[in-house]
Amino acid sequence: METSILSGLEASKALYSSLESRISHLKDHGIIPGLAAVLVGNNPASEIYVKNKTKKFESLGLKTDVFRLEETVSEDELLSLISKLNTDSEFHGILVQLPLPKHIDSEKVLNAIIPTKDVDGFHPENAGLLSIGKPRFVPCTPKGIMFILKHFNIDLNGKHVVVIGRSNIVGRPISILASLKDLGNATVTLCHSGTKDLKYFSKQADVLVAALGSPEFVDSSYIKEGACLVDVGINRIEVEGNSKIVGDVNQDSVTGIASSLTPVPKGVGPMTIAMLVENTVLSAELLLN
Ligand code: NAD
Repeated sequence: METSILSGLEASKALYSSLESRISHLKDHGIIPGLAAVLVGNNPASEIYVKNKTKKFESLGLKTDVFRLEETVSEDELLSLISKLNTDSEFHGILVQLPLPKHIDSEKVLNAIIPTKDVDGFHPENAGLLSIGKPRFVPCTPKGIMFILKHFNIDLNGKHVVVIGRSNIVGRPISILASLKDLGNATVTLCHSGTKDLKYFSKQADVLVAALGSPEFVDSSYIKEGACLVDVGINRIEVEGNSKIVGDVNQDSVTGIASSLTPVPKGVGPMTIAMLVENTVLSAELLLN
């Protein structure tokens, strides 16, 4: 079987072109969608993530500022910055790059972001809206996965979607999105580290979402022939002294057995950034309603 590649890069380009008219409509009303990115400390991976995100905003002519705080910043100082950004009309979205230093309560910080600027979709109000089937700001990675599947005409209706991983950022929200009547209408199984006999479930999947954070974990023995595989993982490994990024799927092992596969890189990753832009545009549009 030929395994087709579901390019997130291609899907993200389609999303950006659909955003052009929405952005110019906002600009006609004097609104430039703006993102405030808060970066605490000097974590090199976080630096790269924030740079990639803000670069995209700049290239689209949108506003973005990075608020850098020292690793030793107190929780109160960080909360006070969030409180200022909540009322700053130049920013429609606030992103706090995770992870935060250990002395800071991440949940408290994320919950301090006003839900109408919570473009990462992590606030309990937005998580609650999603879980009752009225999504507002949906976390960018699962939202991006739904977009890729739609872009490549992979219909979830009546299919069995198996998700590996139950994080609030990826696994749980994608399991809800896929199950919602108007979005996926799929039958969903959510697997996690407590799942006994993972293969029993993963081999039933028409669409398997691997979001467990374990390099090349899912090989051909985990899937059925013709399955669509969504590889969410971003794992850095060393190969013969060189550092390399791989997903949670062993792509060589499943090629020829899966019907389609999101690559790593250039799969889910680019869609995550694209959806951050989309959520920020959506937040700016709330001002027009
Ligand atoms: P996480 O560590 O918060 O959650 C991992 C989940 O996988 C947990 O719920 C755990 O129960 C489950 N799990 C772990 N090992 C398992 C096993 N052997 N069997 C079954 N379940 C198992 O991770 P996360 O934040 O959800 O991220 C998952 C992966 O996705 C990571 O590689 C991360 O880097 C990547 N990621 C990619 C993007 C992107 O834009 N492409 C965005 C976010 C996360």
